[in-house]
Amino acid sequence: MTTNAELFERARRVIPGGVNSPVRAFRSVGGTPYFVARAEGARVWDVEGTEYLDLVQSYGAIIAGHAHPKVIEAVRAAAGHGTSYGAPTEREVLLAEAVAERVPSCEKVRMVSSGTEATMTALRLARGATGRSKVVKFAGNYHGHGDALLAESGSGVAHLEGQGHQGVPGSAGVPPTAVAETLVEPYNVVPRLDADVACVIVEPVAANMGLVAPQPGFLEGLRTECDRVGALLVFDEVITGFRVARGGAQERFGVRPDLSCFGKVIGGGLNVGAFGGRADLMDQLAPLGPVYQAGTLSGNPLATAAGLAALSLLDTEAYAALEATATRLADGLRSAITGAGLTVCTPRVGPLVGLFVGAEAPTDFEGARRTDEAAYAELFHALLRRGVALAPGGYEILFPGLAHHDGVVDAIVERAAEAAAEVVGRR
Ligand SMILES: *Cc1c(COP(=O)(O)O)cnc(C)c1O
Repeated sequence: MTTNAELFERARRVIPGGVNSPVRAFRSVGGTPYFVARAEGARVWDVEGTEYLDLVQSYGAIIAGHAHPKVIEAVRAAAGHGTSYGAPTEREVLLAEAVAERVPSCEKVRMVSSGTEATMTALRLARGATGRSKVVKFAGNYHGHGDALLAESGSGVAHLEGQGHQGVPGSAGVPPTAVAETLVEPYNVVPRLDADVACVIVEPVAANMGLVAPQPGFLEGLRTECDRVGALLVFDEVITGFRVARGGAQERFGVRPDLSCFGKVIGGGLNVGAFGGRADLMDQLAPLGPVYQAGTLSGNPLATAAGLAALSLLDTEAYAALEATATRLADGLRSAITGAGLTVCTPRVGPLVGLFVGAEAPTDFEGARRTDEAAYAELFHALLRRGVALAPGGYEILFPGLAHHDGVVDAIVERAAEAAAEVVGRR
């Protein structure tokens, strides 16, 4: 039998850090990552056969549970007909129609292969359509790893050295010129915009610095301020899209952006990103307009099959169930862990749940950075030893889905009480 430790050692010889996405390496919590062999519903099993109740759910790409039969069947059927053609297909039309129907601000949609590609291109489109260069983003929001948006980012970037200054790139290899026209503002404060701003990009619910809800008036204020100076409002709904409501955060909060970015849920666990918006803006894209964007695997037939299958599972009942599950989880974890003597808060927006060690839910990146990440790491490991997988980083969130039935949630909560008692006992 292969062990996690053996595989990690081999991985580190041939893959930088042993992983293909940094957070997976466990650097911020310490220890050896488990290598997944298979997954079903709310559970994953590693190569040693250990079972985990999984709250990672591919960082939100999975909403109906791992290996949902409908999704798997759709992918199987699609694969039998070939895996990529380089010519348009019917399912791309169906998926674009499905997005436009759910999200009315998206009159037209273009598909890409990741959330990063979606935000990168939305930015280029906003700049191309307005003829302006400046973009505004918010500290602690993460929009993928495109150069211009790697400034004071959340998620894994937040653990790199040298973060935290205006105009300083969040990564080596990003030239200062790439972020020279990126203005970083504190989340939940409506900035006063100059007339040379092309767009404001925002996570309508911040989910990459833990979970931080938009304060009442924040998203509405951004809409008004963008309109005042003729800037475009871009919602990065890569996490919130099709999850916090059928029509995403813009439906939940009643604010209509000019452009929206999607990823994760829209691909049903395969590689899909998309962005959409007003037809007159979207028609600025090649081949109709001067803003170039392309992709060999864009609108991939397996990915559109998985995405359509996943979206078809998300009816009104599903959203009600997601919300009920998330409430049970958030309330259960808070009282279990706090009851054991480790004070946590578990903010929730619809089906999204955060877990911060500390008494008060942060409202911005500063606040998120003041929470106790060391205690999060201890809790993470105490839970992992009990067969519960949280994301290995305090800036990630929990993704309860349709497979997290009450029994699963209750088991997680019970183990959380024990895990917290262990952490408190060792302090
Ligand atoms: C995950 C994420 C992205 C990047 O998507 P990838 O598919 O990982 O490139 C962008 N924005 C937000 C809000 C995300 O959570």
